[in-house]
Amino acid sequence: MRIIVIGAGILGASTAYHLARAGADVMVIDAAHEGRATAAGAGIICPWVSGAEDAAFYRLYSGGARYYRELIPALAELGETDLGYANVGAMVVSDDAAELTAFRDILRQRSAETPEMGALSLLTPHEARTLFPPLRADLAALHVAGGARVDGRRMAAGLLRAAQRLGAHMEHGEAALSEGGVQFGGQRIDADRIVVCAGAWASSLIHLPIEPQRGQIVHLRLPDQDTGEWPVVLPPGSHYLLAFDDARVVAGATRETGAGLDYRVTAAGQMEVLTEALHIAPGLASATIIETRIGFRPVGPGVRPMLGRVSETLFVGNGLGAAGLTIGPFAGRLLADAALGVPTALDLTPFEPALR
Ligand SMILES: Cc1cc2nc3c(=O)[nH]c(=O)nc-3n(C[C@H](O)[C@H](O)[C@H](O)COP(=O)(O)OP(=O)(O)OC[C@H]3O[C@@H](n4cnc5c(N)ncnc54)[C@H](O)[C@@H]3O)c2cc1C
Repeated sequence: MRIIVIGAGILGASTAYHLARAGADVMVIDAAHEGRATAAGAGIICPWVSGAEDAAFYRLYSGGARYYRELIPALAELGETDLGYANVGAMVVSDDAAELTAFRDILRQRSAETPEMGALSLLTPHEARTLFPPLRADLAALHVAGGARVDGRRMAAGLLRAAQRLGAHMEHGEAALSEGGVQFGGQRIDADRIVVCAGAWASSLIHLPIEPQRGQIVHLRLPDQDTGEWPVVLPPGSHYLLAFDDARVVAGATRETGAGLDYRVTAAGQMEVLTEALHIAPGLASATIIETRIGFRPVGPGVRPMLGRVSETLFVGNGLGAAGLTIGPFAGRLLADAALGVPTALDLTPFEPALR
């Protein structure tokens, strides 16, 4: 079966990998737009602490975290180990220890359904700072052992390389839809199935109610610090800190609705991210700013992503919002199975794409 995947962010890359693994004849076309979300995403994988109230969404979100445990060894078998994934744990931090105890009790109830959340332990401020040294001295923590982080760029690149090793063919440039096929490079290419994973740019291809939400995220370097095992830090609110293994600490992020596809670092965005980061971790004050990344989260009308069939030949994956580096690899597997017409590991009915 000939299948064209448009878009090679984490969702398109995973879809292509799973299609190729199943033996499909896969072509991937990607335009590498500035601001593609996968290249800017922080990479926190810790769905259990989210306030997600939508049960269908939570099943997908927690299923995404679980799926990494299967995917990482499968990619390693194909020689793909440079993915920036590590099970470093996560710390929910607060200056109110009673609040953390109450939250631990809520999470314990969730852990029956999702044991991969791992052990939950309350840490004193001293213990929390031992794990993440720049942290403010009065912040206690609830440590979630199953928390992880991933480098979206490396993960998507690894999935794509694996797909190519399994026979997928990659093209660079902008694609458009045409009746029963795809318009690319001045030619019409026929396909049995087309899967559109075009992120925040999808509405230029198909009438999807997707809007970009701009995120500005700052990368810092702490010279001489071994940051590779530092846990993710989750204070109240939408800001956070996480670390990678090259003395890099990432401080995120703005959530700007209505900014369109405006690929710029703004004074207000930079100030917001740094103010929040230094409030939680004053020890970052002397860090070097390496870069500020900008990404456009693809956001739909509700929290649920859209995954599935639009017509006999056309399939769509989109709306991963602020959770796509967690959900993307699993959603790609589901989308690939849907396109191949085989049963999916999760019922996709709640995620049916609604055209505008
Ligand atoms: C600042 C920030 C922080 C985030 N932090 C986290 C986090 O900690 N944890 C988490 O789980 N998620 C996080 N996310 C969310 C996550 O990054 C996104 O949900 C996810 O990357 C979306 O992936 P995607 O493949 O749908 O879209 P994208 O990565 O945007 O990829 C879409 C691709 O489609 C291509 N394309 C579009 N139109 C065409 C066309 N016509 N022809 C060819 N190619 C086309 C684009 O060039 C692009 O490469 C964050 C996002 C941002 C911006």
